[in-house]
Amino acid sequence: MSQLVIHSGTCITPFEVIKNGSILIEDGIIKQIGQGKKDFSTETSPHVDASGMFVIPGMIDIHVNGGKGANILDGTQQALKTMSEFHLRHGTTSMLPTIISSSISKMITAIKLVETAVNHPQSYKARILGSHLEGPYISKEQKGAHNPAHIRTATAEDYHPLLDYLETVRLITAAPEISGVLEFARSLEENDIIFSIGHSNAKYPQIVNAVGTGFSLVTHLYSVMSSITRQNLTRIPGVVESGLLLDELSVEIIGDNMHLPGSLIELIVKTKGIDKVILVTDAMRGAGMPDGSYYIGDKDDKNSIIVENGVAKTSDRQLLAGSTATMDVCLNTLISEAGLSLKDTVKTATLNPAKLLGIENQYGIIACGKKADIVLLDQNYQVQTVIVNGKIEYTKTNKGE
Ligand SMILES: [Zn+2]
Repeated sequence: MSQLVIHSGTCITPFEVIKNGSILIEDGIIKQIGQGKKDFSTETSPHVDASGMFVIPGMIDIHVNGGKGANILDGTQQALKTMSEFHLRHGTTSMLPTIISSSISKMITAIKLVETAVNHPQSYKARILGSHLEGPYISKEQKGAHNPAHIRTATAEDYHPLLDYLETVRLITAAPEISGVLEFARSLEENDIIFSIGHSNAKYPQIVNAVGTGFSLVTHLYSVMSSITRQNLTRIPGVVESGLLLDELSVEIIGDNMHLPGSLIELIVKTKGIDKVILVTDAMRGAGMPDGSYYIGDKDDKNSIIVENGVAKTSDRQLLAGSTATMDVCLNTLISEAGLSLKDTVKTATLNPAKLLGIENQYGIIACGKKADIVLLDQNYQVQTVIVNGKIEYTKTNKGE
């Protein structure tokens, strides 16, 4: 039996805050939680002294395209390993690699890669939970940095080849106003896939229909989506207002401190309630890399974006193109820019995505019986240690590596 004890830290479970908290891990599972270390066998077990640190559940990023020069559409195991290892160092212990609009064959290659990673977790640092398909059935008017050549309507002929590879697809972002999208969602009712409204120009009645069809999330709220329009003399809510209004919808927020100022994050939290807010990076391959020019998505598309001062933009500098953020940066943004408490912030990065994915029985919470995916943060919310399945996968060295 392998044991690990984490002691003397401030544990944010995130239902409660336990000062001077200790956690006993056995064979990758949390066995005991308490205060002080007297009841924990720290003399015989390997232990981590978390004095002066915050101990939080491992973070779950449901929207991450790449990092450290790699993108899931590179289609290689090495690319996925690179993304997984890079984001782990920033506190992500589980992720949904996010595949943007591409040809069906390229998307299937990436989905198969994710499927292999789901089935062989020992080869990856941060756990690969499944894939997030962002497109291709989205609005051309709200394409953002997606290649318009790959954006299309959802015909049965187009998505038919996908149907054999859906086992590990957990989330699909689509625009409900696009022809065939609601039928596509309805045809997958049995597959336990979450549908999210994103890159969409939908108006309120179309969004209500989408919710009726089972859509339960809004992808990167406020970015590349409709807002209020006027029809004759009346105003019609768009995706932004509907996302805020409808209780059936949770919302992703990009916490890179570029997409959303603190004031809008405050508005979102105030309107939705903290339990419906899910923190994501939307990181692209320029995350963890120097400024420069990078291909977004599939390299063969040669769809270049630029990263200047750490900000990813389309080549005409008119739009943000994903982010270079990591989950630790996103945590910091919510605390420093939007004034959220650490406990609430941690919920948006752990418990809330776990609940959305229906995996809170194992992940996203520090409690007895859950997987021991745990992150230690210093007082400035910088990641110090990352534990996955009870195993220390990363410890920050003095060199900051
Ligand atoms: Zn997007």
